Amino acid sequence: HDHELAGDVAIVTGASSGIGEATAEALAAEGAHVVLAARRADELAALADRIEDTDGDALVVPTDITDDDAIDDLVSETVDEYGRIDILVNNAGVMLLEPLERADRSNLRQMVEVNLLGLMNLTHAVVPIMQDQDAGHVVNVSSVAGRQADADSSGYNATKFGVNAFTDAIRQELTSQDIRTTIIEPGAVDTELSTHVPDEQVLERFAEMDLPMLHPDDIARGIVYATSQPQRVDVNELLIRPTGQE
Ligand code: NDP
Repeated sequence: HDHELAGDVAIVTGASSGIGEATAEALAAEGAHVVLAARRADELAALADRIEDTDGDALVVPTDITDDDAIDDLVSETVDEYGRIDILVNNAGVMLLEPLERADRSNLRQMVEVNLLGLMNLTHAVVPIMQDQDAGHVVNVSSVAGRQADADSSGYNATKFGVNAFTDAIRQELTSQDIRTTIIEPGAVDTELSTHVPDEQVLERFAEMDLPMLHPDDIARGIVYATSQPQRVDVNELLIRPTGQE
């Protein structure tokens, strides 16, 4: 591969909305076979229909990435269908912002299990397949919050700093085997992410800030850019803020 996306097999987690949905559509438009993973099966089926209506190819594998067995099923269903995995986009995430004093421990746990442990476990399951192929690309969706900590974001920051550290460590293990890694760090993007924020005061503060927002497609284009580079090029990190976000 040097490196057309046509014919590549790409797993995208969190494909049921937002950045994951836009990324799956963009990779499919480049001719990749996309494997759509998230919990909401109806949303995934609707996306697969849209992709197939425009002559793309998609496989729906409803997956809760906090469930180890579901991770193994996602990988085995992908390999059974296509025989390989070229690209893994670890995008599923939750952002349950709360000041620590009001934080619910189950929210802290969920962020670690989805944003960090789920990403680590799925990567752990996929990398041996990429090693057998002597090629592959792991794209991990982190955040500006993976580089910069802020009040009310301690748990989310911890997971995204963790994603950056994990990704750069495996980069050093895998780059000599022609496996590439990319950390994507979006600023504010207009998606469902903030609708799950449990803390009213944090939500009000967000609304007052009236941040400029990227579109999910703006991040998807970055992921297409990174994954379509010639094999000699490994785009290790992309930090993409909306113009106007300080
Ligand atoms: P959305 O809320 O629109 O998408 C989140 C996705 O994660 C959904 O598809 C959801 O699917 C999936 N997901 C959540 N929990 C699980 C789970 N247990 N198993 C499988 N999938 C799960 O938000 P975004 O598109 O914005 O978020 C995508 C990524 O981008 C996240 O990692 C987020 O942290 C990151 N990001 C977003 C920014 C923004 O401003 N929007 C900024 C920086 C980073 P389902 O509910 O169907 O399982």
